[in-house]
Amino acid sequence: MTYSNPSDPSTPTGSPGAGDPHRIAVDYWHPLDDGRLQCDLCPRLCKLHEGQRGLCFVRERQGDRLWLTSYGRSSGFCIDPIEKKPLNHFLPGTPVLSFGTAGCNLACKFCQNWDMSKSREQDTLAERAMPAELADAALRLGCRSVAFTYNDPVSFLEYAVDTAAACREQGVRSVAVTAGYICDRPRERLFGALDAANVDLKAFDERFYYKLCGGHLKPVLETLQYIVRETRVWLEITCLLIPGENDSDAELDALCHWVASELGADIPLHFTAYHPDWKFHSAPPTPGSTLQRARAIARQAGLHYVYTGNVHDPEGGSTWCQGCGALLIERDWYRLGHWGLDARGACSRCGQRLPGVFEARPGDWGARRQPVRLVTQA
Ligand code: SF4
Repeated sequence: MTYSNPSDPSTPTGSPGAGDPHRIAVDYWHPLDDGRLQCDLCPRLCKLHEGQRGLCFVRERQGDRLWLTSYGRSSGFCIDPIEKKPLNHFLPGTPVLSFGTAGCNLACKFCQNWDMSKSREQDTLAERAMPAELADAALRLGCRSVAFTYNDPVSFLEYAVDTAAACREQGVRSVAVTAGYICDRPRERLFGALDAANVDLKAFDERFYYKLCGGHLKPVLETLQYIVRETRVWLEITCLLIPGENDSDAELDALCHWVASELGADIPLHFTAYHPDWKFHSAPPTPGSTLQRARAIARQAGLHYVYTGNVHDPEGGSTWCQGCGALLIERDWYRLGHWGLDARGACSRCGQRLPGVFEARPGDWGARRQPVRLVTQA
């Protein structure tokens, strides 16, 4: 059983800790017979004694309940092109207000954002913005969406969900970049609040997840199936290819056939290049030829929209019509070129609809990455 309502009614879920609005009481935990509290937010199921924090470091036991300690605190804000998340079929060309907090519920040795995701330093969280302030800022800055990114929003679920709700009231969409490592009930709450997600499918191999990420593959596959079958969230998938670890023909073939049969051929799949980082330096940077080989395997498996990322590959970065082969959206890194869609988001040559979320015209944000300061310095 998971406790949704605390036994102490003086501290309802979502209430700030005494004098600290950035520390809130949270759901998704239950007491164990040995006196510890088990966090039921992600499949890691941390069992905490008084004063202990979970692996994500931002959820903590104090007294007879669990708390999130990073509510309304961020490692910084930046306006990015939406293609950088990456999302290629969701409001192309538009700016997205991106932010993260600190901490992560996986422990990937090759993490490409380790300075934030693995941070245990509170000074990483120098910027502060409550959900309504974030939504106001996104509107003021002309951003069409807000992205929970840099570290996994599963670890700061309550802050992400409240921000998504505030954004929805203002007509701003919400996007998550996540590993999808989350338990059933909180999964419904997180994805029920979102408009789009890019989920990392780190490998198609339990050994990889266990050895290199400290997690398991099955919950991630369940998250992908849940999003497609039970929600209206626009989904794209990213697979970071690491030479010798997750890039064999057999593994890629199995992954792509699973995506095609379980999720559908129209789900965009991004193969991106790894560079040595954090605690993992035993593999060389991913060559472009590996990404192109993966893309060919995915196309062979029947997937319609397969992209290469972190390399200069205009063909692999662009969108092509499944009906007639026409160039629909030309990309050079994150900059858009030719636009071959009509006002309904269909190929202007043959009329075949492109799956995704499109408007009559693309945005014109370009490839810029613009750091912004929102509210107050800690
Ligand atoms: S969310 Fe954090 S505290 Fe909860 S189980 Fe996962 S890693 Fe542990």
